[in-house]
Amino acid sequence: THFGFETVPEAEKAKRVYKVFESVAQKYDVMNDAMSLGVHRLWKDMLLHVMHPQPGARLLDVAGGTGDIAFRFLDYVRSQQERQQRRVARSMQTPSWDDISNNYSTEDEAEPQESTAVVCDINKEMLQVGKQKAEQMGITTGLSWVVGDAEELPFDDDQFDVYTIAFGIRNVTHIDKALQEALRVLKPGGRFMCLEFSKVTNPVLARLYDAYSFQLIPVLGEVIAGDWKSYQYLVESIRKFPDQEEFKGMIEDAGFYCVQYYNLTAGVVALHSGFKL
Ligand code: SAM
Repeated sequence: THFGFETVPEAEKAKRVYKVFESVAQKYDVMNDAMSLGVHRLWKDMLLHVMHPQPGARLLDVAGGTGDIAFRFLDYVRSQQERQQRRVARSMQTPSWDDISNNYSTEDEAEPQESTAVVCDINKEMLQVGKQKAEQMGITTGLSWVVGDAEELPFDDDQFDVYTIAFGIRNVTHIDKALQEALRVLKPGGRFMCLEFSKVTNPVLARLYDAYSFQLIPVLGEVIAGDWKSYQYLVESIRKFPDQEEFKGMIEDAGFYCVQYYNLTAGVVALHSGFKL
């Protein structure tokens, strides 16, 4: 309460969240690296490792901000595609027992399937920074940027193979609505995946982590981005977010199946996953 954000009424929350990300957009990536000591990169890599998307998969990355998940996704499917092409080339020369027993049809696999990633975020400043990054990285195909609210997605039903939301869902006012929307836009068989700060499992680490986040993060926010308040909000929103088991229950209540989670870095972050059947 002494931070001033905790008592914000529901209707105000969305506006405040918008302002926070509008003001941090330009410094967002630098701050992410500084505050997590670069570890957010590993959490995001882990998400892709667990997802293991194949060429042709369609991704919707909600609260996608500056595009980190979408870039990793496109990179991952591209490397999968290259692997498949190498395999096809090899099997055309000398088919291995593997190729024969897997019954590879070289004709099917030689034709590359295009994967697409849609980055959706409520904040156009964040998307703008993402678009600039994409340009610098030379990504020209398979990527689109859409302004939209996780609670009311501007997409038709049954569109995507994977829905991701990384460090975004705690900013959404009605989590249940966002989960229902995720379920709606996924194809049957599609997967919901969420990275979010969670509850540290080890009590000693939990105390250290609390001290770090409450004492240091707003200071870093002030020093690097000149913005104490936004980073206070960040710490508070992490505190208020449900723990691993409770969030798992919410995902199940929304109608997802096979819901499970992995703790990353001792529960600092949890990766939740569920399927639309
Ligand atoms: N996913 C990115 C990442 O991992 O780096 C960005 C995460 S950033 C902490 C949170 C993002 O959620 C911000 O870009 C913010 O604009 C977005 N956001 C907040 N509320 C939202 C909502 N209701 N719908 C869609 N995006 C939202």
